[in-house]
Amino acid sequence: MPSVRRQLATATAVLALSITGGAVTGPAVADAQEIQKQATATGYGGAVSTVDPDASAAAIGVLKKGGNAVDAAVAAAATLGVTEPYSAGIGGGGYFVYYDAKSGKVRTIDGRETAPAGMPTTAFTNPATGKLYTFNELVSSGVSVGTPGTPATWERALERWGTLDLDEALEPAIDVATHGFVVDATFRQQTLDNKVRFSAFPSTRDLYLPGGDAPAVGSVFMNPDLAETYGLLAKKGVRAFYRGPLAKDIAETVQAPPKDPAWVPPVTDPKTSIPALPGYLTTKDLANYETLDQDPTHVEYRDYDVYGMAPSSSGGTTVGEALNILEPFNLRGMATADALHHYLEASALAFADRGKYVGDPAFVDVPTKALTDPLFGKERACQIDPKKAAAKPVPAGDVASYDGVCPDAPAAAADDRDTENISTTNLTVADKWGNVVEYTLTIEQTGGSGIVVPGRGFILNNELTDFSYDSTNPDDPNRIEPGKRPRSSMSPTIILQDEKPFLALGSPGGSMIITTVLQTILNRVDLGMTIPEAIAAPRASQRNTLNVAAEPGFQTGTDFEVLKLYGHTFSTSAEIGAATAIEFLDDGRMVAAAEPTRRGGGSAMVVKPSP
Ligand code: GLU
Repeated sequence: MPSVRRQLATATAVLALSITGGAVTGPAVADAQEIQKQATATGYGGAVSTVDPDASAAAIGVLKKGGNAVDAAVAAAATLGVTEPYSAGIGGGGYFVYYDAKSGKVRTIDGRETAPAGMPTTAFTNPATGKLYTFNELVSSGVSVGTPGTPATWERALERWGTLDLDEALEPAIDVATHGFVVDATFRQQTLDNKVRFSAFPSTRDLYLPGGDAPAVGSVFMNPDLAETYGLLAKKGVRAFYRGPLAKDIAETVQAPPKDPAWVPPVTDPKTSIPALPGYLTTKDLANYETLDQDPTHVEYRDYDVYGMAPSSSGGTTVGEALNILEPFNLRGMATADALHHYLEASALAFADRGKYVGDPAFVDVPTKALTDPLFGKERACQIDPKKAAAKPVPAGDVASYDGVCPDAPAAAADDRDTENISTTNLTVADKWGNVVEYTLTIEQTGGSGIVVPGRGFILNNELTDFSYDSTNPDDPNRIEPGKRPRSSMSPTIILQDEKPFLALGSPGGSMIITTVLQTILNRVDLGMTIPEAIAAPRASQRNTLNVAAEPGFQTGTDFEVLKLYGHTFSTSAEIGAATAIEFLDDGRMVAAAEPTRRGGGSAMVVKPSP
């Protein structure tokens, strides 16, 4: 089933093709810029929102053929592995949240990457100097590569709830990888942003820097190696990823990253050091990888039931706790600046507790119940002064002893280092039966580890940099431990009203995922915005740090002046998050919403459009 961009790509690609390494690029497509991406679509019969029109078209194609939301989500995710390879793919992991219309239940799959069994807690320390490696040294290295969970997630989701087999769900992605997609400005820019480190690894350079440059906007980009890898999984199942020759290739790549020995950092950036440190992943780690079936987190907010991802992600507990903190306040009745002030303060408090308590529950006793307990939220809400920003960082609450009564002012807290990056992608799908999928998947940093497995067409993750950078504190719930899942911020969220879907949403953005999801919920539920407006609105993110990160659009107008008067200080982030969502209207229509401009704009589609 050809996709929107694919049709255009194929039509153009026949004119002339030049072949460079694994990638095949065609000439500039004169009208590639004119491909219409719709940020909002309303209608019936199923809906999808992703960052990319090929991926959305893959999902809609599956829905039109009678597949369900899970089938369509896997088809879209696999396509994103082709067209958004720097944010997601089979070299990474993610979290899959599913609302099953028949049972009325929300279920989740934890497909997070795991630390290899042989990874020591001191892995981020250079044994020669006794000092921590620089972040730069760790990112493009084998050390940061966790055992990927994405192929196993697709398999598990299809086997639990899907109607298609993996080979059928992979068809659209194989089609796009084989015939190509048209490069847009975001893809080119993300490639350029990674040019230095990509150029250090011939497997990556040959694929993504054909002729030494990032593919031109409007050219056709094909990934035959990935088509072949997907073909292998289609034929043999994901077992072929976790065992056998492909697993061997992955382990070898991690243990001896295939860096060009002649590579030197560019003169323009001589400090760029890529020692390509060997990592710990073995074929045994791959063979032992398992996704986890988990109950979601649940909180009630206003008239809604909010379901999120339980630890190892901190998304569900942190969004949930912040909503519990905000529940006692009438945000709707407040001036907008006051509502935003409460949002920022609630985020800081919830982040303090995230830092102290959340890690992989297989290793740490995570107080998920307390963190999502309305009584705990009510007690934490005591810390909010309605007209004054608290000094940051605020300290964590006490999950062992709380009763909803305001305690004495607690002591100050130490600042937390945040090494999560801002890559990742998110998708939302619903079908005509009312099933809903919210799925966030990632390879961590934009461009992951920067290492393509030679001949296999996909980049390995650098997810293990989500562990606490300095892992020497034994009380840190997110310290490195062998076999552990690093704490995530991914927050795929499904909200029900009267036991029926009301809204599903999620976003990339590192730890700003949490605030993006939270702010979008508040915009929609409390501040009277439609879902497209709620997504488009300027964002700010307070993660218990001195400054609030805010988009330029947020830092203007009277509300901003009031927030400054209350004591908030700001730093600028050009873009925060890239959300996707579907809202379910009372008359049965679905509103699929994507970003109108962030990351070049996303793509929303419905099966049967209606006004
Ligand atoms: N690695 C991050 C996490 O798991 C996601 C990265 C991103 O969205 O940018 O929370």
